[in-house]
Formats: sequence, C-alpha cells, structure tokens
Amino acid sequence: MITPVMPTYNRIPLSFERGEGAWLVATDGRRFLDFGAGIAVNVLGHAHPALVEAVSAQAAKVWHVSNLYEIPEQRMLAEALVDATFADTVFFTNSGTEAAEGGIKLVRKYWAAEPSRTRCIAFEGAFHGRSTGAIAAAGGAKLTEGFGPLMPGFEHLPFGDIPALEATMDERVAAVFIEPIQGEGGIRTLPDGALKAIRAACDRVGALLVLDEVQCGMGRTGQLFAHERAGITPDVMLVAKGIGGGFPLGAILATEAAAAPMVAGSHGSTYGGNPLGCAVGVRVMQTVNTPDFLGAVRAKGGFMQQRLGALAANHPDLIEEVRGEGLMLGLRLTEGHAPAALVDVAREEGLLLVPAADRVVRLLPPLSITEDELAEGCARLDRAAGSIARVAA
Ligand code: PLP
Repeated sequence: MITPVMPTYNRIPLSFERGEGAWLVATDGRRFLDFGAGIAVNVLGHAHPALVEAVSAQAAKVWHVSNLYEIPEQRMLAEALVDATFADTVFFTNSGTEAAEGGIKLVRKYWAAEPSRTRCIAFEGAFHGRSTGAIAAAGGAKLTEGFGPLMPGFEHLPFGDIPALEATMDERVAAVFIEPIQGEGGIRTLPDGALKAIRAACDRVGALLVLDEVQCGMGRTGQLFAHERAGITPDVMLVAKGIGGGFPLGAILATEAAAAPMVAGSHGSTYGGNPLGCAVGVRVMQTVNTPDFLGAVRAKGGFMQQRLGALAANHPDLIEEVRGEGLMLGLRLTEGHAPAALVDVAREEGLLLVPAADRVVRLLPPLSITEDELAEGCARLDRAAGSIARVAA
C-alpha cells in the first residue's frame, strides 16, 4: 500500500526528538552516539550554539529574497570560500546533487565552442547525486537502471586506475570528475600521487578537473578540502553536506577561467544562496576553517585509526580492513558479512553508523566530537562486533 511519504527509502523505525553535540535523543528517550552525522553533514554536531545563534538571528531578519537582489550573507560566504581555496568564484545551490548538475552544465558550456569536446571521464563506484546528469556521471546500475535514456558523454574507469586514464585522455575529453575519497562507494581512497597524475593528465589535453568534495570536504579529512594534501588544485569543485552544518546548502567553486562562460542567464536557482543558508554557512566556515579545529580533526582521526586497528585485530573474522582519512572512516567487512547487519546491532548498542558499498560500514562522526565520545563509540562498536561474531559462530 502506498504511504503518504513516497516509499523511496528503507527507513529504520526510529525518530529523534533532539540532538546535543554528538548525541541524538530518540522520541522514546533512548540516547544514541551519532557516528553518521546525517551522512557526513552535521560537522558541528547537533544544536551547536554558534549555528543555533546564526540561524535564529538570520531568521529574525530575512529568510529569502531571491537572486534578483544582492544577498550580503551570500557574498560573505563566497568571499570566505574564495579566500580559503583555489577558487575565484562560487555559485550556491541547495544540495550536492545541484552542485554536481551545475558542474556538469559548467563543463558543457565551457566547451560549447568546441563540439568535439564531449567526453567526460568518471570512475566506477562514484556517487554524485540523483539528478539525471548526476546518475549518468556516476554510471552505476543501481542508480541508473530504469532511468534511461541517460545523458550521453560519460565514460567510466576503475577508481584510481591512472594508466587507464592516461591511455584514454585525448583532446575530446572535456573534463574528469572524481571524488578524492569515494564516500557512498565505500570510503575508497586514491593511491598516493594519483590526484597529481590526474591533474597532469587533464593539463596534457586541456581538460577540466572537477573534484566532488561533497562528502570528503569541509574539514572531514582534517584538511579543509581533501585534495589539499595532494598539492594540486582543481578547476571546479563541488561542495555541500558539511558546508551547511545541517542546513541544505551546496556550492560550485571554480577558477575564473573555468567559470568564464557562466554569465548572467546561464544558470540559476530560486533558493540557492539564500540568506538563511549562507548565514549558517559563514558560521560553519568561521568555526571549521581554523588551524586548531582542523588539527584536532587530524588528531582525532589518528586516535580512531589506532582504536579501529585494535578493533579489527580483535574481530578478524568480521573486519578485513580499516579505511579512510581524518574522521571519514570505513570498516570493510569480510566476505559474507553485510554492512547493514553491523549497523543494526551497533544501533542496539546505542551507536549510529552508515552502510556503504563495497562491504563497508562508514564512521562519519561530527568533527566537533570529543576523544572520550570517540572512545565510547569504539567500545560500543566492539560490543556490536562481538555479538555479530557470536551469531556467525
Ligand atoms: N556527491 C557526493 C560525493 C555525495 O556523497 C553526495 C551525497 O551523498 C552527493 C554528491 C549528492 O548530494 P545531495 O544528497 O546533497 O544531493
């Protein structure tokens, strides 16, 4: 029977009344340690005082005016992003999907005068959102089946296969789209030097490099953006999730050259860059983009790598590998173990996790979480892993 909410999700029968930092309190009073953060969104946890203040103060002034007018909060956020990154200019959206869609449009427009530049290279296991363009860009059957005909032009290589990329690059390639760390694909990192090689391959044929940092950006790896550690810059970058700390907000960042064709009338959004979202985004940037905050994320990431390494050693029949960087972490399970089963038993222990592809369970806690809370989460995870192992035995 159809439900009032269209049944496109397999929902867990659990709802929350309030959040406090890294904790969520369910409507039945149970407290959960949140290692999902709304799928890498709540970078400052729940009900962070600075974000509550930012959204409340802006809500009392003006929520929405449309992009017919100047929006000072939007300009402030754009300036903060431009100051902190490779980008010269920013287009604001409400989600990662819209950022990906706009990024694809930017690439098409950039090459509009060269009709042979239509090849877009992307990677297996990718996720860029659910619009028709974004599913074509990602290419996986789970996303695309039944939604054809797909937007043409996308070709997919094995993730991180640099020789395959170098072999296929030619002057018909408009752009390469890649997540520096695949999130939905299973916290898959690139080999050292891969981003540098991809940048060089793009430069060799003049193609644009589009990085999707919707999940791995905004401090999650302990750098403001994950590509920074590789010592390269993209031409275009897609951002969302963490930038709004839970308020729907996304952005396309671009160099002046890449954005040159994006002139008045070329793209738009009613809500994108609205005062409420941008007021929150400014506060997120002010809080996250400091050496102390990012250093703390790296330290907490190191702590987690240690704890999870010990946990994996404790449960070798269940956990095959610890993956990731900073607080974007994954446990790859051994063959025959479904991530959803571990997520379910962890929830019974009061710990929220997120499954991913490639037999991976994701740990994406708020970046503001304390080391004690991380240790508590690992203890709960250890108990959950123990009960799975007992069931399996
Ligand atoms: N790109 C990446 C890398 C993502 O992880 C996601 C969402 O999970 C998206 C794009 C789409 O973002 P949204 O769900 O906000 O539309």
